[in-house]
Amino acid sequence: MAEIEPSWGHSGGGWAIAVHGGAGAVPHERRAEHQAGCVKAAEIAGEILRKKGSALDAVQAAVACLEDNPAFNAGTGGSLNRDGHLELDASIMEGSELRAGAVCALPPYLHPIAIARAVLEARRHVLYAGAGADMFARANGFSPSSDAVMVTAASRDRLADVVDGRASAGWAGGTVGAVARDAHGVVAAATSTGGTMGKDPGRVGDSPLIGAGTYADNAAGACSNTGDGEAAIKLVLAKTAIEWLRDGMLPQAAAEMAVRQLGERMGAKGGIILVDYDGRIGLARNTETMTWAAASETLDRVAFGIV
Ligand code: ASP
Repeated sequence: MAEIEPSWGHSGGGWAIAVHGGAGAVPHERRAEHQAGCVKAAEIAGEILRKKGSALDAVQAAVACLEDNPAFNAGTGGSLNRDGHLELDASIMEGSELRAGAVCALPPYLHPIAIARAVLEARRHVLYAGAGADMFARANGFSPSSDAVMVTAASRDRLADVVDGRASAGWAGGTVGAVARDAHGVVAAATSTGGTMGKDPGRVGDSPLIGAGTYADNAAGACSNTGDGEAAIKLVLAKTAIEWLRDGMLPQAAAEMAVRQLGERMGAKGGIILVDYDGRIGLARNTETMTWAAASETLDRVAFGIV
């Protein structure tokens, strides 16, 4: 498989999936592992979409696959707060009825995105936080995990680097997300993260916030962000990019405009993936890397790269 440019103007209303493994600076020696993780997630989601499954199932499956992969900052291997604990954020949205579900500051569970999906399906609230998210998860049959199971040596080392001043605090890269358009014309988006390494307990970034980190609307498209969460919240970045699609901008142009705004208006860094109502994909970042993979009815193979 070869890296290709993500400037696909293809259209035709078929299914499409794009996943990201976070904007950041993945060291050269870890890039192959990162890319393989994104390719696997896109393949799993592509299989669902090829069989006429839903965009919602596809983005959930892609993100769950990346939550299981300790190379990424989501689920197992996620970033730790300054006390060394996991507090996980995830959100998911579909674009036909604007159904959405999210959890934030969630204690360790293997698949925060599955709990966000259960919130969406319950249709009562959109976002559960902390102890309430934990209660919701238990009440809906999810088994809690633990820091002992989900915290990796690599995340402990990175936290130590941040605490000792050898690495800067802030977002880590490795957040994961997916956007999809299914064969029925429905779009969906999902995002999951451990947040920023060394964050204050209770800090919540953009990823679980509908409109900031994740958005989907069949009339326009679907979006998942990564990067400086505080900046993305202030720009309401996901919804803003979706509005540009609604106004007729192509996904690649909207993705580039979004990271330009992050940089020029906020002095911030990040990345974004978009799919529009017609299955066209756009992706951009102003960081050193953003690992991604994509598949669609019109691509004959999974495409991938670091952008
Ligand atoms: N946006 C995430 C956050 O601020 C971090 C990231 O994307 O790497 O929590």
